[in-house]
Amino acid sequence: MKATEPITPDEDDGPEALSILGVKVHNVTIGQAVALVKRYMDQPGLHQVATVNPEFIMTAQDDAAFHRVLNRADLCLPDGIGLLLASRWLGQPLSERVAGSDFVYQLAAEAANHGWRLFLLGAAPGVADHAAEIFQTKYPGLRIAGTYPGSPDIDENTTLVDRINESKADILYVAYGAPAQDLWIARNVEAFYNLRIAIGVGGSLDFVTGRAVRAPRWIQRIGIEWLYRLVREPWRWKRMLVLPWFAVRVLMSRSRQ
Ligand code: UDP
Repeated sequence: MKATEPITPDEDDGPEALSILGVKVHNVTIGQAVALVKRYMDQPGLHQVATVNPEFIMTAQDDAAFHRVLNRADLCLPDGIGLLLASRWLGQPLSERVAGSDFVYQLAAEAANHGWRLFLLGAAPGVADHAAEIFQTKYPGLRIAGTYPGSPDIDENTTLVDRINESKADILYVAYGAPAQDLWIARNVEAFYNLRIAIGVGGSLDFVTGRAVRAPRWIQRIGIEWLYRLVREPWRWKRMLVLPWFAVRVLMSRSRQ
């Protein structure tokens, strides 16, 4: 399949989606995203949530499997200021950025309110455990179904799926970075009995535990969190080289519409 496969249309009552370089992004606020998740919890089957940013979109241009997974996901959160700028340029403005690293808190709070069981998979050894403790302190009553670092390698797949099924988790955070985490979820969509929601959370558990530090709110508000992250984690410069290309491709894509 080519990386330019069209977006699967959403169900009539699904959130509005737009296409940025052929990749689906939902136009939701964080409140609407939480409302959708509540709806998913009442529906059978596993719902996949992705936190799409410009790096995801550029990776998907050359990775047909990742492209397909994003376009089939139930909810593609607009996680990046670059997506907001692109959406304006394309004449379909997104309402707001929904950062995965904010959403993990919202979802944990909802899980505590509703008694949903949360499983934290991935990140370096000890990180998921530590994040679970922090969530439980912040949201008393939160039920942690399990934590496990594991790896997205195929050799470990069955062990991880069995572990998560046995835990009777309702919600799963997968912290393997993109695209590995999103491919891992898609690969196992049919394998879970109880799970209702799985979300790829990238480095969010590192932020929750303080191993990585998010930019102050004012920096987030003016849209340069990506620059702050680059300064703090300079090894990311290679990954970020795709960002100017993202801008060029988006600028050119409007002229082709
Ligand atoms: N990670 C992991 N196993 C792997 C690769 C990555 O547990 O095989 C974890 C890593 O420890 C980090 C997260 O995945 O917690 C990816 O973080 P990154 O900051 O790269 O993700 P981003 O937020 O940029 O998507």
